[in-house]
Amino acid sequence: MKNYHMSPEEFRKQGKQMIDWIADYYDTIEKYPVLSQVKPGEIKDQLPATAPMESESMEQIMSDVNSIIMPGITHWQSPDFFAYFPANTSGPSILGDLLSSGLGVQGMLWATSPSCTELETRVLDWLADILQLPEKFKSTSAGGAVIQDTASSAALSALLAARERKTNYESNEAGCMGNLVAYVSSQTHSSVEKAVKIAGIGKNNLRLIGVDENLAMRTDLLEAAIQNDLKAGLIPFFVCATVGTTSTNAIDPLAEIGEISQKYQLWMHIDAAMSGTAAICPEYRFILNGVEYADSFSFNPHKWMFTNFDCNCFFVADRSVLIKTLSILPEYLKNQATESGSVFDYRDWHIQLGRRFRSLKLWFVIRHYGVNGLRYHIQEHIRIAQQFAGWIRESADFKLIAPAPLNLVCFAHRNGNEFNRKLLELINSRGKMYFTHTVIRDQFTLRMCIAQTNTTLEHVSKAWQTIQETAKELENMFNNNPKSE
Ligand SMILES: *Cc1c(COP(=O)(O)O)cnc(C)c1O
Repeated sequence: MKNYHMSPEEFRKQGKQMIDWIADYYDTIEKYPVLSQVKPGEIKDQLPATAPMESESMEQIMSDVNSIIMPGITHWQSPDFFAYFPANTSGPSILGDLLSSGLGVQGMLWATSPSCTELETRVLDWLADILQLPEKFKSTSAGGAVIQDTASSAALSALLAARERKTNYESNEAGCMGNLVAYVSSQTHSSVEKAVKIAGIGKNNLRLIGVDENLAMRTDLLEAAIQNDLKAGLIPFFVCATVGTTSTNAIDPLAEIGEISQKYQLWMHIDAAMSGTAAICPEYRFILNGVEYADSFSFNPHKWMFTNFDCNCFFVADRSVLIKTLSILPEYLKNQATESGSVFDYRDWHIQLGRRFRSLKLWFVIRHYGVNGLRYHIQEHIRIAQQFAGWIRESADFKLIAPAPLNLVCFAHRNGNEFNRKLLELINSRGKMYFTHTVIRDQFTLRMCIAQTNTTLEHVSKAWQTIQETAKELENMFNNNPKSE
């Protein structure tokens, strides 16, 4: 019978070539411009406007990958990538992801692949121990954890559970009444604001609390805002504390926020998207002091823990609230295991129904590195970042703009905003490395985040050299042609 499928034999051949292609890519990644230099539309214009009617060969497809797709890639896995927060990867993670694709499992229920659920539960309990999270977050107590796609989805799940707990599960039935109030700091990630909009809380019911000189939430202002809202007859229900804000890596005072949450019965969510990973190291575990107050906690192994995007780990102290908030049981999903109540059906722990077998890549990573291997590389990243921060501190031309507690350094040249903007543009346009920026108290600030898997002190020292040379070059340009500004 005629068929167009790729045979296992052909897959074996092509698969080996693909692994070779990826290994070659990592071997030669430093030759590419880190930031893709293409113009909008440039990639699309090279792709046919209509789909092929007839089968094409893998050779033809890969030839287009090389000639059309690669120029439009920004190389997140380059050791010279210092932009945003990272999305780092590793060999074991890529292989785990490939195996997940190969098995092609859809793990919405325990019954749809018991290993998909049970491996996830076990690995997340491991992580709770590695991060020294309180027992309540483990599956062996009232809590538990689930792998979500992103920190954004985790925040939305937390917010929905908080809403239902506060309204005695009536918002799920009758819709939201518009009187619930949520609290974040002015530095909280925009995903929480998005969640507030999606969850029907309304942006007018989101309070942005001011921050201190280190850009951490001020709890005096938090409590004042709560009291204000109570006086107005509103219902405070949710606060998000951040460990490692995206702009500057600021760390909110968890214990103080936790005490206020208890006093006013707020759901406390902790967003530790990138920096939570640092708590794997005993000497940085202090960043989670106060996590015992939290109702939920999430971090992204897909940022700094060598695990391919996407992989967010979302822990809750009381899984029954989350499950009651999100569970739906149509007839076609009913099965004995679910009815017995003795299994987790993770579709009840997040927004979507279907789910990939993501715990495989996480399991591969933790087993490949071991806890000590993970600690070693995280410590190295922080050590290198601290060295870079030291160079900035000693420099006559540059200064630190915010404290650098871990692996993110926020800095600027003393010549002012326009100069710093041009400096960033010039460095990125040359493709040797890639930085992004933030604005802190009206200061245009360059950010250097050190967390790509293969970044070493040499890469960072080379970057520092380039930053200084480019600044000198720019100063000369300004001096020779001051009007061009
Ligand atoms: C990156 C980041 C997020 C969003 O991460 P996603 O997983 O892409 O949703 C949320 N919060 C903080 C603090 C972040 O740094």
